[in-house]
Amino acid sequence: MSHPVIREETRLQGIGVSPGISCGQAALLGKALLEPEERKITVQEIEPEKERLKNALAVTRVQISELQQRIMETAGADHASIFDAHLLLLEDSTVLGEVVRRMEMDLCSIDWAYFKIISQYADSLRKISDPYLRERAIDIEDVAQRVLKNLRWPDGNWLAPKMNENASIVLARDLTPSDTIGFDRDKVKGFATEAGSATSHTAIMAHSLNIPAVVALHDFKNTCLPGDHVLVDGYKGLVIINPSPDTLNKYGPLIERENQLVDNLSSLKDADTATADGKRIILSANIEFVDELNVVAAQGAEGVGLYRTEFFYLTDKTLQSEDNQTENYKRVAEACDPHGVIIRTLDLGGDKLLPELFEEPQPNPFLGWRGVRVSLDRPEEFKVQLRAILRASAFGKTRVMYPFISNLGEVQDANSLLEEAKNELRDRGVPFDEHIERGAMIEIPSAVMVADHIAREIDFFSIGTNDLVQYTTAVDRVNDRVANLYRPAHPAVIEMIHLTAEAAHRNGIWVGICGEAASDLRLTPIWIGLGIDELSVGPAQVLRLRKAISCLSTQECIDLAKEARTKGRAREVMEISNKLAGNSYPELLESPS
Ligand code: PEP
Ligand code: MG
Repeated sequence: MSHPVIREETRLQGIGVSPGISCGQAALLGKALLEPEERKITVQEIEPEKERLKNALAVTRVQISELQQRIMETAGADHASIFDAHLLLLEDSTVLGEVVRRMEMDLCSIDWAYFKIISQYADSLRKISDPYLRERAIDIEDVAQRVLKNLRWPDGNWLAPKMNENASIVLARDLTPSDTIGFDRDKVKGFATEAGSATSHTAIMAHSLNIPAVVALHDFKNTCLPGDHVLVDGYKGLVIINPSPDTLNKYGPLIERENQLVDNLSSLKDADTATADGKRIILSANIEFVDELNVVAAQGAEGVGLYRTEFFYLTDKTLQSEDNQTENYKRVAEACDPHGVIIRTLDLGGDKLLPELFEEPQPNPFLGWRGVRVSLDRPEEFKVQLRAILRASAFGKTRVMYPFISNLGEVQDANSLLEEAKNELRDRGVPFDEHIERGAMIEIPSAVMVADHIAREIDFFSIGTNDLVQYTTAVDRVNDRVANLYRPAHPAVIEMIHLTAEAAHRNGIWVGICGEAASDLRLTPIWIGLGIDELSVGPAQVLRLRKAISCLSTQECIDLAKEARTKGRAREVMEISNKLAGNSYPELLESPS
């Protein structure tokens, strides 16, 4: 069978979400079904085609079992159990019967018949309102993708780049938490996705892998084949498939310089984070999973400034018990001592939906039942999490933080439940930090406007710019149709951050930023100038940001922030900030071309 292998260089433009340049072989991780060619067959080919399907199913079964075994060893039986459902899908005789009938009726290749039938199943599941059943569409496509690849490359060669090569670039439609669990992280050197935006949670996860990553590439499934040579330029948001010798010649020295930069930055691992004139900034890291703690330490972050607990909650239900949560948080607390960890209570809702809780789709999930609203409506479950966080605080500096705060009452109610949780532990004689610090995420404009009131109830603010930009400017953070309007430098956002910082300091508490804008090095001078005390970023960004901060003078930043607050357009704010950044640390800012 001939395939439309495109060998000439193809450039795809997306959004760079993790800087750096790397090259490797394409490993396609597919949710997007690989569309086979529509090929007609003769009646004599029917039996051999059935045989091909039988073989492909058998190979797929072995591959899934091997993957399951690997995940069992690295992540435990619960993570591995999702593959039981995948194995069952391979045996589904109704579906397989339909595939064969379709081939016989249409006299088309088994690949085409399989693709058509599976696509129909997945599409009809996607239309069902039950989110659990809708999710099954992803499982079906996941399995079907493997079968289609095994039909196309019967020797299993499509797996080779992922398993055998030193450098693989993972290309996927999107990235789910369970995808990242399956990665062999040492071998993955770059990451590119069709979907996603700079602040989607999938992008955030890619960021934390400490490799260049580009999202929002829209469509590459027919452009790139497994094993193709791929270059990812995370600075420019560029993915080059089968780069020409000319491109490789141009990029060769850049990759060399990039490696040099990474080497130089590593000397800052144990350094303090301070401006050139000595103003200390706390520089911590954001994590979604405990296994990222290695990167946090390797990058010299001052603890964890945001632990998004909902991710393990979504992927591993067993962690919902108090003991299991405690065990998980304790690991983080111990690893982050003495700097500490900020454990954010569940921020479910928005694009992070737990099927059991979100049975009915919400018309506007980002404006709906999300974050602390969900927790306050389920006080017993909320207290389970609060007790677990408190228990972890006995093992290392731990702070607790409430997400999605939109009014003072929510902070007070959350604090009351925290006090109840403390009393319950006292009654049980379980130790915890009596003075555990409490923080509120400031990510909704109404919280900014009552920040003085909120500040009196808690010990710190952490500004969630991912949401603050979305809610201040009415731009959906995950909708790439409006990605061009998503601007952290919007004067309204700058003013919100200014007001928050003022309110924090007026009330004697500290203020950090933990949204993705904290790692945008073009804006670092503004954050320093606005008086931000802490920046929490993806682990991959820590050393670059430490270097950038060390090149800035506080007074210059204060003057810049003042000037920025006189501007009316995001572009103008970005221009003046980028200019100061560009003069101060040009080598960190862009692909050095
Ligand atoms: C934010 O909104 O900036 C934030 C850090 O929280 P999340 O991205 O998890 O919503
Ligand atoms: Mg948020």
